[in-house]
Amino acid sequence: PISATIRPASLSHNLKVVQSQLQARQGMQPRVWAVIKARAYGHGIESAVSAFAGADGLAMLDLEEAVQCRELGWAGPILLLEGHFQAADVAVLDEYRLHTTIHCSEQLEMLERGAHPRRPIDAFIKLDTGMSRLGFTPASYRSAFERALRAQQAGILGRLGKMTHFARADDDADVTQAQLDVFNQITQGLPGPISVCNSAGTLTPGLWAKAGAAAGTDSGGGPTREDKTPMAARASHWVRPGICLYGASPFAQRSAHALGLRPAMTLSASLISVRDIPAGTGVGYGHIFHAPAPMRIGVVACGYADGYPRHAVSGTPITVDGVRTVTVGRVSMDMLAVDLDAVPQARVGSTVVLWGEGGPSVDEVAAAAGTIGYELLCAVAPRVPRTII
Ligand code: PLP
Repeated sequence: PISATIRPASLSHNLKVVQSQLQARQGMQPRVWAVIKARAYGHGIESAVSAFAGADGLAMLDLEEAVQCRELGWAGPILLLEGHFQAADVAVLDEYRLHTTIHCSEQLEMLERGAHPRRPIDAFIKLDTGMSRLGFTPASYRSAFERALRAQQAGILGRLGKMTHFARADDDADVTQAQLDVFNQITQGLPGPISVCNSAGTLTPGLWAKAGAAAGTDSGGGPTREDKTPMAARASHWVRPGICLYGASPFAQRSAHALGLRPAMTLSASLISVRDIPAGTGVGYGHIFHAPAPMRIGVVACGYADGYPRHAVSGTPITVDGVRTVTVGRVSMDMLAVDLDAVPQARVGSTVVLWGEGGPSVDEVAAAAGTIGYELLCAVAPRVPRTII
């Protein structure tokens, strides 16, 4: 009695919310890579591919997911965000017309050493401006880019773009500005499109336009035919939102609801037991909760083996029969307990919403577990059936 209901209409709605926030500046209207990594943040690639038909491109990590998108009929651009491919994968990039990210010299070496594609591969060259994860250092970036330009002349690489990733676009404007300053300084004058913003950056008004603009970088043209067209010059900026497309907030202080987003996944289950317990009764493993007074509790058929966070504290919001209440005690592998005092009508079989439409937001549950909505959405277990409505 548990299911994850996926609403593709909410995915499409959230994409439209994002697109409506991205107003044209300096003659450019940014394009959207809809980030669908980790099986579309747990929502399933199939739902995402159809729901994000209005996006300009899809971005993910896995080559298999990229191939699946093509097989599902996605004809537009696809970007591999990490590009940690093996030599043998170059043929797949080629066959399925995938863009890749190049973030280290080993990737360039592999391409130069003979893993030659039949067609030049479009690539974003990634700069590490402060995330300290992937990307060329500021000191090595320009020589890496020039090396990529030589690979372009050799017909190995196609259109080149410039990319970075923010570490704190959700909570620190100064750190983000410092990353942008590094990006603008290091990429100044290098050709090709730009991609810097994740969800938090995308939903911060005007932030995307600061990349490439402040330092007068040529964010439009480029050495290839396509990039020189006025159309490409107007649309040479790409944002990369992920989490907000699924209806969760990238910001701790701003709810998804306040951002106009709709939850695309609802995790629901049923009550499988209802009992009245006397004051002082301990509930669940470790008895971390004791009934302060006589109370009614219910047992829900959902536990950490389904992906519900074990670290969610006693008191995490949850909805039973449409009434908001809280969990009590520790989450078990297959079950958790809820306070039913506020839900006298609750019975075995009553519907429980753990997060999503008609329940708390995934961000609220995540906060109660000391984590983020991203982790919960991705962690819903394969054993939980997905229902697409
Ligand atoms: N771009 C890159 C390189 C990423 O790794 C991610 C996700 O982690 C995103 C964009 C999307 O980030 P978010 O889900 O915060 O929008």
